Amino acid sequence: MKIESGDFVMPGDFLSVSEKFLPGQGAYEDYGSVKSGVPGNVLVDEEEKEISVISKSGGPNLLKVGDIVYGEIKDVRGQRALVSIYAKKGTNRELALPYMAAIHISQVTPSYIDKLTDAFRIGDLIEAKVVKIMGDNLDLNTEDIGLGVVKAMCTRCRTFMDPCNESEVYCPVCDRKEKRKVSKNYDY
Ligand SMILES: [Zn+2]
Repeated sequence: MKIESGDFVMPGDFLSVSEKFLPGQGAYEDYGSVKSGVPGNVLVDEEEKEISVISKSGGPNLLKVGDIVYGEIKDVRGQRALVSIYAKKGTNRELALPYMAAIHISQVTPSYIDKLTDAFRIGDLIEAKVVKIMGDNLDLNTEDIGLGVVKAMCTRCRTFMDPCNESEVYCPVCDRKEKRKVSKNYDY
């Protein structure tokens, strides 16, 4: 089926092979395909060889690059932490998609870190910036001083911990410290 101007599409819907069209506004490239990043109406520009999706104003609450989001660390594996996004900072509106995100070890702090578990642990709540969007999948960055862990959970007893400095948190129950990428917005 060929996509035409005016067709209504949802995020992740196939629009074209990327050899034929470039992704314009509201579209993105995904392994040789151009797909829709937003719900809206297709706009095919045959001259520029560009395919866009125009979402209606006041439509669903979709994230964009540069947005600050809150999420929970679901897994820390090798070079990547996986994050479930639950809100965009500065709005109470529910997000339109169940966004999942990843933070690569190179995007955590301005300096080098040895292992990702020195920054995040499962159950931590974080504040992060959206740096890339592929449908309902995001890449995040926490380098800024106000970004990183805003609530850390003790790996031993699951108690929420107190911040010590920009790289350590303290569990009053276990009387021990753990490493984190602590945000200056840490929630006491
Ligand atoms: Zn503890």
